[in-house]
Amino acid sequence: MPTVKCPTCNAPVDWRPESTYRPFCSERCRLIDLGAWAGEEHRIPGRAPSPLDDEHPSNSSADWVN
Ligand SMILES: [Zn+2]
Repeated sequence: MPTVKCPTCNAPVDWRPESTYRPFCSERCRLIDLGAWAGEEHRIPGRAPSPLDDEHPSNSSADWVN
């Protein structure tokens, strides 16, 4: 039976339909891996962009209307 190594903890995982979380050894390792790349996406230091910031350009662009 072929086995793969869990990308998260390097544990051998049987490559078979019963191995629900393959190539991960468990749901926990799968979530850790998903969280790893998701964390890269969302790891932005400082404040998140505020929707209110978009109002300033529109306010200044209204000057030509007057
Ligand atoms: Zn694992």
